[in-house]
Amino acid sequence: MRTVDRLQPFTSTIFAEISTLAAETGAVNLGQGFPDTDGPAGMLAAAKAAIDGGMNQYPPGDGLPELRRAVAAQVERDYGLVHDPDGEVLVTVGASEGIAAAVLGLVEPGREVILIEPFYDSYAATVAMAGARRVVVPLVEDGGRYRLDPDMLRGAVTEKTAAIIVNSPHNPTGTVLSDDDLRLIAETCVERDLLCFTDEVYEYLLFDGRAHRPLATFDGMRERTVRISGAAKAFNVTGWKIGWITAPRELADACRAAKQWLTFTGATPLQHAVAHALDHETAWLAGLAPDLQAKRDLLTKALVDVGFEVHPSEGTYFVTADARRLGYDDAGALCREMPRTVGVAAVPVAALADDQARWGHLLRFAFAKREEVLADGARRLAGLSGGREAT
Ligand code: PMP
Ligand code: GLN
Repeated sequence: MRTVDRLQPFTSTIFAEISTLAAETGAVNLGQGFPDTDGPAGMLAAAKAAIDGGMNQYPPGDGLPELRRAVAAQVERDYGLVHDPDGEVLVTVGASEGIAAAVLGLVEPGREVILIEPFYDSYAATVAMAGARRVVVPLVEDGGRYRLDPDMLRGAVTEKTAAIIVNSPHNPTGTVLSDDDLRLIAETCVERDLLCFTDEVYEYLLFDGRAHRPLATFDGMRERTVRISGAAKAFNVTGWKIGWITAPRELADACRAAKQWLTFTGATPLQHAVAHALDHETAWLAGLAPDLQAKRDLLTKALVDVGFEVHPSEGTYFVTADARRLGYDDAGALCREMPRTVGVAAVPVAALADDQARWGHLLRFAFAKREEVLADGARRLAGLSGGREAT
């Protein structure tokens, strides 16, 4: 293999593998997280008008000024976070590039980055690309939901720790970190002088009346936090790859130093359209979480009816389910056979974890799909009810 050593563990992604399997078998794809309906019509029209209107050349490296202003206005409106659109807001090619820019721009080789397990796969790959080392702290189960263990988190910090990456609402578990957990992270960062990279791509997808609280709003956190989000999940445009960073100037400068050599900049007409959406599509956005909550309920019920033990999803596109009661101990094997045997694709949570024993029994299902697709998935999943002997 010609791939460099540090990337050999990351040669393919579970999302690509499972989506390919779903396409080959004609399975209902409840694996990769993307919605199957379009975002607001006004935003789509703005993108088309921008192309027809000649917005087809490079935008500035930091992103179109109108989008940087719209992002600064959004974080101030929603969270009271004030950022200068000139220098403290960077438009990135998806949240993925924002995460990579933060890690590459702010973590020296040989330093450690704490990841909360299970973790979105790009974090581990990006930490490896930076020549840094990941240190993993698992979510622990407590009364049917997940939380952080204070001793485990504090115990993971060493002299070498540079940063912690935090994702809430959390992919893949659907956990919204409690205020206690957020406070624990903030206190640990302040006490041990750590940077915090927050992946808030699901900031609008919280259910049952929960409110999103960015870590940057906690005491002592603004100056040490790089906040990453994007349009993909807010406006149903995962294929547009428009993300952004908000950070204090010194941290934004470091992110820019990496980001400008990754892509320099992203698609101009799409940046224009997302600026339009942030400024004018708040009513559409307000309808998003209730719609997804109903879909969560539909899929959760279907999974329970089949016999899965389901972990309640509090946000995101995802719900996780334990198949052991159905006789399946190995969710990885089940996810790889289910497209063919049952006609439904899901993602094994263990693919987003180091500790296979801890996470090996869980499947992640995506419910950001039209009701008829979820209903079709539910019908097919009923085929699992027979189960088989545990191995
Ligand atoms: N972070 C999380 C937690 C995600 O689930 C995803 C994928 N949806 C990303 C980052 C990547 O976002 P983007 O497609 O904007 O790069
Ligand atoms: N974020 C999406 C998920 O978790 C996948 C993105 C990708 O395919 N890399 O399903």
